[in-house]
Amino acid sequence: MQDGCGANFDWHTARPYTAAAGVHPTQADVKVDMDSMKVEGKGVRHFLVSCDGCGSGCIVGPRFRCIHCPAFNLCIQCDARGAVEHPGDHVFQILLTSQQSFHHDLPAGTRVELIGLKQHPLLNGKLATTCRFLPSRNSYDLQLADPFYVSDATALHCVGPAELTSVTQLRPGTTVSHLKNVPMKFVQLAADTPEPVHAVAEVSSAQRAARNRHRLLPQPLWAALPRLQQVQISGQASATNGLLVRNVEDEFGSIVGPHLKGDTFTVRLESEAGKTWRVSTFDLCPVVTSQEHLQELVQYSNAQQEAWQCIQDLPVGQAVEILDRDYLGHTGIIAHPYNPELQCYHVQLENFDEVAGGEAAMAEEYGVADLPGKSIDELGAIWDRFGLRKPSPATADAYVLQAMEFLPDTAEGPHTLIFPSSSLRPLISSPEEVFMLRERHEASLMISVRESTTPSIVESVHNTLWTTTSNVPSWSTASR
Ligand SMILES: [Zn+2]
Ligand SMILES: [Zn+2]
Repeated sequence: MQDGCGANFDWHTARPYTAAAGVHPTQADVKVDMDSMKVEGKGVRHFLVSCDGCGSGCIVGPRFRCIHCPAFNLCIQCDARGAVEHPGDHVFQILLTSQQSFHHDLPAGTRVELIGLKQHPLLNGKLATTCRFLPSRNSYDLQLADPFYVSDATALHCVGPAELTSVTQLRPGTTVSHLKNVPMKFVQLAADTPEPVHAVAEVSSAQRAARNRHRLLPQPLWAALPRLQQVQISGQASATNGLLVRNVEDEFGSIVGPHLKGDTFTVRLESEAGKTWRVSTFDLCPVVTSQEHLQELVQYSNAQQEAWQCIQDLPVGQAVEILDRDYLGHTGIIAHPYNPELQCYHVQLENFDEVAGGEAAMAEEYGVADLPGKSIDELGAIWDRFGLRKPSPATADAYVLQAMEFLPDTAEGPHTLIFPSSSLRPLISSPEEVFMLRERHEASLMISVRESTTPSIVESVHNTLWTTTSNVPSWSTASR
């Protein structure tokens, strides 16, 4: 007899302990249903956990974890074989799901495996690569590594409640190479060694951090993103050249205009060529490739937000966005040095007329008189530069004829308008640019404080200027 739970037993009649296949030591009394366990935990990858029996890099299937040892794990083969010498009184915990699943926000092109589909068991174990993660549905579009033939037999197997709507729509006799909208829980990373697991985990956690900025930061979210930066868009897009509005669901696109203007970015969708759309900063998320990449984007965006405050003494050539209601969303270039007395700028507008676009821009540089004598190639290059539709057939005469519709006889020269500094926001092309802007801004503030210009005078001058912006007023040596 010995102390314990109080139950009596006799060493001679007690059942002998068997550390054997089929019955697990921990479950000696519970009776483990190994068959159902094999099904339930089948194919589950326990990432970054290797088997101490056979040394396999990543345990696949049920994982047996010793609760007495700090780190001792066995795969089902090694456990069943009982081939590993391990203290007989150690208790094992059986894990059927991975503690680290790595199936959230996997980057496009990641190798994955389908798992856990009860209604479509034939798909389990199939390998695929991710085309995109759909954050609004927590699912993936996948490309199967081996196209999947739907025979009558498979179709029969795949009836029942739809786990995958795409699969139930499949008809016998067809071959499937893509699966759309596969819920995240049926998708797991297919990697056996630690290196790719770590690499993917880093990218997907950076991506999730990029998405979570939506919830963490005050508005606006992204103030600037580099040109050509890939983004994923979920929300409304409005065409830049018309009134068309469409819903976009988790589609990829790229940044055309790097700066947030009127709370929107100009983007191009990957699914269509040519067209550009305006998308709210809240409806897009940059696709990031690493933590460093995310940091760079955050820095650029933060610097842009700071630059918005530095509106005093902007240098000539500085790109600006115009906030004035009549010109909202337009950009321009500072054309003359800052006038501290009036706190105003001459701004040369870019794409003065958005709809006319390239035509207006071309009119600043060219008049009809400049065109005759140019070769067809030269004309074509000019048309390309301003993004204009070329005449067909593209003869020199056709080019000139077309140009007569929108070009003045001689070049117009740049449009400049005057805006108070409070109606402008500087646009920067790199995070470093903000240091220079901040210095000039602060130095200028110091001077104006010292000279103590009375605000009321400045105010009244503004008002006068506003009524005369269309004619360039005479306070500076304007260019026209
Ligand atoms: Zn093993
Ligand atoms: Zn142990």
